[in-house]
Order: sequence, then structure tokens, then C-alpha cells
Amino acid sequence: MMFYGCDVSELAKEYGTPLYVMSEDDIRARCREIKSDFIDKYENTRAVFASKAFQTLEMCRIVKSEGLGLDVVSGGEIYAALKAGTDPEDMVFHGNTKSRRELEEALNAGVGTIVVDNLSELELLNELAAGAAKKPEILLRVTPGVDSHTHEYISTGQKDSKFGFSVEEVADTAAEMAINAENVDFKGVHYHVGSQLHDNTSHIMATDIILNMLGGLKEKYGFIAREINCGGGFGVHYAGDPKRTEAAYFLDPVMEKINAFYEASGDARPLVTIEPGRWIAAEAGITVYEVGSVKTNAAGRVCIGIDGGFPDNPRVALYNAEYEAVAVEKADQPCSEKVTIVGKCCESGDILIRDIMLPELERGDHVAVLCTGAYNYSMASNYNRVPRPAVVMVSEGKARLSVKRETYEDLISREL
Ligand SMILES: *Cc1c(COP(=O)(O)O)cnc(C)c1O
Repeated sequence: MMFYGCDVSELAKEYGTPLYVMSEDDIRARCREIKSDFIDKYENTRAVFASKAFQTLEMCRIVKSEGLGLDVVSGGEIYAALKAGTDPEDMVFHGNTKSRRELEEALNAGVGTIVVDNLSELELLNELAAGAAKKPEILLRVTPGVDSHTHEYISTGQKDSKFGFSVEEVADTAAEMAINAENVDFKGVHYHVGSQLHDNTSHIMATDIILNMLGGLKEKYGFIAREINCGGGFGVHYAGDPKRTEAAYFLDPVMEKINAFYEASGDARPLVTIEPGRWIAAEAGITVYEVGSVKTNAAGRVCIGIDGGFPDNPRVALYNAEYEAVAVEKADQPCSEKVTIVGKCCESGDILIRDIMLPELERGDHVAVLCTGAYNYSMASNYNRVPRPAVVMVSEGKARLSVKRETYEDLISREL
């Protein structure tokens, strides 16, 4: 099996397994698509990579070199982004319960935009900003109450989200407080309707709700937003899902709504920001494993044991995510066996792929699981004291180590 010009079997031998392999070429191609189909197409727009999907120092540098900013959700992500040389101005700081320390760190670093989630955070930030003699730019995070999984508008949806303000809360109290808070610069609003969406309905409905809300804020307070952040959520291709959806499929109708709204109002159209995460990183990555035990259980299920699983990819256990896999050295052999790829953890739920057709596999073969570039490395744990895999970056047929494999010593390095 080849992956962007590199022989995957050779990569496994050279760098060991499990191994995350990321295609720099694919990451850059996605960034350039965002540039051509959004940033260059619509003026006064910008994109920030939702770095929680895949944050390494090198990834921060790659997206920066492609002209994207960075969405960060914790003090740790801010710290690493700064270490990577990300301009703090280009950072957008999220989080439903940012700590005092994290807010102080963001203020000290000069993070460009802080997305305020709730009233207690607004009060605290206003107070901390006064102490630090700063005036951060803020957006209010709004949960528009669109159920992105069923694409049905559920009027009580917002009450059930742990993120952000409801539309009513912004209209009744939060906007007024933000306008009157002396030490923050209230620029506008943020909404993010969900993740892994293949249908643009939620984005469009949410945009309508947000614009309507902004119309209300203008009437009530004369407030005119200077930024609208529409979040991310654009879907990619896992097993069974449709092909990666073009970003333009989501962005064009959203921009049409926003542009039409501001043309009608006569006000200047605010800066529009987007935050793709998965869409940029997911398909760029594969995870390579070595096959260990192969056995048939009492129910007749053929279990292919691999040297990773839940610790490097918790998405299956978390969301029942479905993946495709390739037998690395036997990619040209017929897929004659129905097998289940099982992870190595002491957890019955540590099953990576159920009932997949693959060639006959034996100990020492490698399998590559596809589309693991997002929310795998960044979600990895050391459950069962399994060291985290290395990350190899490939570009134009050449591979280089990007993140070293964890060692057993690393595993106990903080223990006293
Ligand atoms: C997770 C997240 C994103 C990115 O979501 P993707 O589905 O990976 O594109 C963007 N914005 C916010 C606020 C998020 O929480």
C-alpha cells in the first residue's frame, strides 16, 4: 500500500507501530481549498483551524504558512500554539468553562479573540482585563438551537447544550452586559452547529436564526456586529459516509444569507470567520498497526488483534465511529475474510472495526485504518499504560518524524 508516495509497510518497519501517518500534501490542499473557495472568494473573511482536531507544533506551523489562524480551547493549546510560533492575534479561544488561569494566560498572551460562553465568564473576563489593563475582543457564543443530527429545528435544543448562550439569553441580558462591560470589546457572535455534517441545512438554519438575533440587537441597542464566526462541522469520508463534502457546499449558502442580510440593512457586512477542524485533518491521516493474535471466538467471529486501538483511537468507543481498513502488504489480494479488528485494551468495547472484509491476515502483517487524521492523536490516552504512537509526516514521497513515540520512561516521568 502506498500513501502519498510512501510505502506504508516500509514506514511501519522504520518507525514502528502503531503509527500515525499524516499527509502534509493533503493538509495543505485542504487549506488551499478553504482559501480559494472562501477566503479569496468572499472579502473580509478568515479561517482558523480548529486545532483540537489535531494539534502538534508542526501542524500549527503548516496551517499558519497556509494563512489560517488557530482555534484553541485550553491553556495547553494556547501554550503549544505560542511555542509553535502562532501569532496570538490569530488565535480564537473557546471553551465552555475557561478557568481564571486560562483567561489570564489568554490575556497575557494577547489572544486575538476570546469567545465568551456564559455570564460568569463575561464578568470574570471583564474584571481580569481591568486588572491587566487590556481590552480583549470578544464574541458571544450562541447556541442557535438547531439539532444538527436530525436537521430538525428543536426549539428547546439550546436549553440542552452545555455550550454558549441561548438566543433569548443574548437578546435579554448577555448582549447588554457585553456592550456595557468596559474592559472588553464586544465584536460579535459565534455559533457552531455540530460536527461531521454532510447536509448544509443546519448551517443555513442556524445562520438565519443568528442574523435574526443580530437584527434584534441592532433595534434594541443599536449594536452592529463586526464579526460573525460560523464555526466548523464540515463532514469527511469515514466508512459508509458519503465522500468529503466540499466546503463551498456549506459556505456558499451561508455567505449568501449573510451578504443578503447586510445588503438589505445597509450596514457594512462584518468579518466572517470559519473554523474547520476535521475537514482539514481527518482524511490526511491513517493509522498503521501490526497484527498480533488472530483467533476465532466461540461465536465464530474472527478477531484480528492489533497493537493499538482504544488508546490511540477512542472515537469508536465514544461515538460508534466506523472506519475502513486496508491490509498493507496484501492490498492487492481478494478481501475474502470477514473479520473484526480488535484493540489490545482490557475493555470489551475496544473494537476498532466490526465485520470488515479483508484478505487473510497473520501475525506480523500490517493494517492501515483510514481517515484517522482528526480526533485520534489529539484524543489519545495511555490507558493500560500504552505509550502514544509516533506521528510521521509525509510529503511528496518523503517521510519525516513529526512527533516521537512515547517511551515507557515517559509514562512514569511525572510520578513521584
Ligand atoms: C470542534 C469545533 C470546531 C471544529 O469542528 P469540526 O467538526 O472538526 O470542523 C469548530 N468550532 C468549535 C467552537 C468547535 O468546538
